[in-house]
Amino acid sequence: MSAQPVLVLVPGVAGGGTHAMPYAVAEEAAAQLTVIDLGVTRGDGVFETVGVFDGAPQNLGPHLQRLARSAEMLELPAPDLDILEEAFALAVHEHADVPELSVRVVMTRGNEGSGRPSAWIHARESVDWSRERAGIRVAALSRGLPSTVVADAPWLLAGAKTLSYAGNMAAVREAKRRGADDVLFVSTDGYALEGPTSTLLVRHGEAFSTTPVSAGVLQGTSVASAFALLAAEGASTGERLMTPAEVAASDGAWLLSSTRLVAPITHLDAQELPQDPELTARLLDHLRGR
Ligand code: PLP
Repeated sequence: MSAQPVLVLVPGVAGGGTHAMPYAVAEEAAAQLTVIDLGVTRGDGVFETVGVFDGAPQNLGPHLQRLARSAEMLELPAPDLDILEEAFALAVHEHADVPELSVRVVMTRGNEGSGRPSAWIHARESVDWSRERAGIRVAALSRGLPSTVVADAPWLLAGAKTLSYAGNMAAVREAKRRGADDVLFVSTDGYALEGPTSTLLVRHGEAFSTTPVSAGVLQGTSVASAFALLAAEGASTGERLMTPAEVAASDGAWLLSSTRLVAPITHLDAQELPQDPELTARLLDHLRGR
C-alpha cells in the first residue's frame, strides 16, 4: 500500500494470451513510454477516467465498454476488457485507501510501426472538487463544428474519447481568461453540446434533458446514472438539442462527469441560473454510489 499514485502496465491489452504477465505494477516515477509512441507523437489513442469512491469503482463496465467503442472508432485493436478489469482492480488495491480516486485507463496505438498498443492504468487521489460541486461559472464557446459532424465528417472522431484533448484544455484556459471556471461547447449551428470533460444536464420543470449523442458528444456514463435516479423519482429524461439561450432560461443546469461528478452551473456567460442544492446533493450521492 502506498499514498503515491499507482501505475499498472497492461502489455496484454490486445489479448491473445501470449503474455506471461498481461499486466503488472510498474514504477510510477520511471520512464515507461518511448518517444515514438503514437499516443505521445499524435495523441493517437483512447482513454477513460473512472471515479472510485470509498474503494468502489463507479460505472466501470460502461467505461470499459466506451473505451472499446472509442478504440473501434480509431481502428485500434480491441482491448481485452477482462484483462483491463483485473488490472484496474489491482491498481485500486495497490493504492492507499482514500475517499476519492481518479483512475485513468489509457490505450495508445503504441510505438510507430509496431502494431502493438501501449496500455496502462494510473490511479491517483482525486483533486478536491468541493468548490466546483458548489457551483461553477460557465462560458459558452464555439466548438467550430456543426451538430451534424458525426454524419458529415466521421473522421473527426466526434464522440470518441481520444487522447487529443489539447483543444479541450485550450478552451478551459479561454474560459478562465473570461472569468469562468468551465466551458459549454456550442455547435456552429447554435446548439449547446457538452463541456470539455463533462456532459450537460438541463432541467425544465420535471423534465431533464441532455444533448443527443448523435450531435457528436461523448456518451456520458454519469448522465446515464443521473437519468436512472431521476426516472426512479418520477421525472422524465431524454435527449434533446437545446440552444444556450434555452439552457440559460432553464430551471437548472449541471455539468456531469465521473470524478468531479456534479457541478451546478451558476452562470452561463452573464446569465444567472436557478440553483437547487438539495437536488445537486442527491445527484452527488447517487453518482458516488451512496
Ligand atoms: N464529455 C467529454 C468530452 C468528456 O471528456 C467526459 C468525461 O471525461 C464527459 C463528457 C463525461 O463523461 P462521463 O460522465 O462518462 O465521465
